[in-house]
Amino acid sequence: MLRLAIQKSGRLSEDSLNLIRECGISFVSSSLKLKTESTNFPLEILYLRDDDIPGYVADGVADIGIVGENVLVEEGKQSLTVEKLGFSKCRLSLAVPKTMEYNSIQDLNGKNIATSYPNLLKAYLQEQGVEADIHTISGSVEIAPSIGLAEAICDIVSSGSTLISNGLKEVERVFKSEAALIANEELSEEKREILEKLLFRIHAVQRARKKKYILLNAPNESLDEIRSLLPSIKSPTILPLAEDGWSSLHSVVNEDDFWEIIEKIKAAGAQGILVIPIEKMII
Ligand code: ATP
Ligand code: ZN
Repeated sequence: MLRLAIQKSGRLSEDSLNLIRECGISFVSSSLKLKTESTNFPLEILYLRDDDIPGYVADGVADIGIVGENVLVEEGKQSLTVEKLGFSKCRLSLAVPKTMEYNSIQDLNGKNIATSYPNLLKAYLQEQGVEADIHTISGSVEIAPSIGLAEAICDIVSSGSTLISNGLKEVERVFKSEAALIANEELSEEKREILEKLLFRIHAVQRARKKKYILLNAPNESLDEIRSLLPSIKSPTILPLAEDGWSSLHSVVNEDDFWEIIEKIKAAGAQGILVIPIEKMII
């Protein structure tokens, strides 16, 4: 049995649970429960505050965990990282009141900065050669300047709308973060085998997320050009259609370059294009 710690309720919770479910691991979840056991995989899930996850994994209370890199590095536990998971992307940034004149980081010398990430901020300021007073608070950092608690803040930003609505402007990016899978460094052989199985499934899910399955019909004389536009896993599948001189072509495309490819293959003569999500992808 492998024990996985995830955030009980917050910005990491839903995506963490979805990832586990997409790996085909079933469990009954309840917001009232502190732990739950999977019915079809040797996994137990512990629901914790995100800040506690690195410590619990380091101590072996949990075997593995999902946590933001911002919390991991703040706690000095980045050595536990197994791999990045690609969700909960955000950044830790410095922000000042929008009325403050700001030219460079040197403008923060001697200032009072409120943050929940004193270690990350301290390291960044040191690297930049800035001396400031760090005021550690545990939440609602963005209101610190307006209540006179600090002259600047260092906080998590994703769209920046919270900063704007608090009369602040983002001036420096301190750290880029996303969710990471972490593991205790002394897992037993048995637990390591379960982790390997879990990673195999996570990779299949992640690979599939970035790809789409594409089907299209085309006149045979367009096939060469369309094939050259569709880099597929090995080579595309081409099947003759009932209508003479036409074929159906199946392939896999990257979600990122998908729109560009679609336009090009349409121009090359493709018709009846279907694009389908892929659930799992094992190569
Ligand atoms: P807890 O009660 O568990 O301590 P919290 O309030 O500290 O929760 P959340 O706000 O739920 O934490 O954020 C959890 C993690 O999600 C953060 O540490 C960060 O990695 C990421 N995160 C925070 N804000 C955002 C955002 N706006 N967009 C994407 N990811 C974010
Ligand atoms: Zn927290």
